[in-house]
Amino acid sequence: MEALQLIGPFKQLLTMEALPLKGALSDSQLWIIEDGGLLISDGKVMATGNYASLKKEHPSAKCHELTGAHVCLPGFIDAHTHICFGGSRANDYALRNSGKTYLEIARAGGGIWDTVTQTRKADKETLTKKTVKLANRHLKTGVTTLEVKSGYGLSLNEEIKMLQAIQEANNEVPSDLIPTCLAAHMFPKDYAGTKTEYLQELAQKLLPKLKAENLTNRIDAFIEESAFSPDEIAPYFEAAKQLGFDITVHADQFSTGGSKVAVDFDAISADHLEASTDIEIELLAKSNTIATALPGASLGLGCNFTPARKLLDTGATLAIASDHNPGSAPMGDLLTQAAILGAFEKLSNAEVLAGITVRAAAALGLKDRGKLAKGYLADFSLFHTDNYQEILYNQGNLKPCMVWKNGNLVYNKHKA
Ligand SMILES: [Zn+2]
Repeated sequence: MEALQLIGPFKQLLTMEALPLKGALSDSQLWIIEDGGLLISDGKVMATGNYASLKKEHPSAKCHELTGAHVCLPGFIDAHTHICFGGSRANDYALRNSGKTYLEIARAGGGIWDTVTQTRKADKETLTKKTVKLANRHLKTGVTTLEVKSGYGLSLNEEIKMLQAIQEANNEVPSDLIPTCLAAHMFPKDYAGTKTEYLQELAQKLLPKLKAENLTNRIDAFIEESAFSPDEIAPYFEAAKQLGFDITVHADQFSTGGSKVAVDFDAISADHLEASTDIEIELLAKSNTIATALPGASLGLGCNFTPARKLLDTGATLAIASDHNPGSAPMGDLLTQAAILGAFEKLSNAEVLAGITVRAAAALGLKDRGKLAKGYLADFSLFHTDNYQEILYNQGNLKPCMVWKNGNLVYNKHKA
């Protein structure tokens, strides 16, 4: 066994333990250890508690004694991103903000298809490098686990290229990248066949290959008028479920329908939900499917937020993710976006912080992270403040001064 390490003292250690998975949360439910310490070994948490007591109980532990006041939180988990892509859509963004419509932008050569073209042009190494760069940018903001989707290849070989690039990027970054296949992102306009035939080909040829090559255990689809209908997706999800994949859905972004499919297929999460009405909210609240809000997409498109308050009050689980992508959500700053969503939707600190830690872990089916407790991964960030409320109050401008992943210090801006 690796030597014990003791880190602290933290003015406040928020363990994110003992919070219910579903429904509204109040800040009084947060477990806060004052003058806390973290005892870690082999990349995992061995104990949490008062720093001085832990030091006395474990005299052999190597101490990382901090100066100044710090708040310690579990590493953030961004459960929905598209950070593997080629090109940039800065021109799209400028056109959209100068009043051009989606169709006008598409006609001018923009839109998702532009990213598909640029991603296909890029070789695997280029995509890997870009993914590494963006994942490391997220790491500096405290994100130690992030999901990354394919979906800009839209052919068997190009989707596999993307998932291999994500896999290689995962080997090169301290954080954990969780791959998801989004080959059903949109219908590729160069495909010689119908939407149904495209999805059949994915089910028959791509899904078994993903399993065989261990490229992902998650399948996503964009259910929307501009992409695929619930009826078109159903047989594809059926095939994915039979092969044992977890299902996740881009649901109810502009029109409803996706969240019902998510619930029917017992999807692990339904993401977006900006257009969800009381009917969909009720459905999600009664299900095991986690509702994931993507404030970055609302900010990028200048449209309404996911009804997070209503989802929580109705009893749903709410995760918050950045949706970092080149088109609608170029910012890629989870903490900033989560703080802004909290201000607009009137979410407690506990609800926002759970949405990017313990509840986000559940949205990815990860049972080993999202809180700081015995046996959990030693993934955590330190913020230079004496009060955890300062973190969301600063709306993302207070960044972590240290980030630890699997018990290793992987980012350090701390000044003694
Ligand atoms: Zn997305």
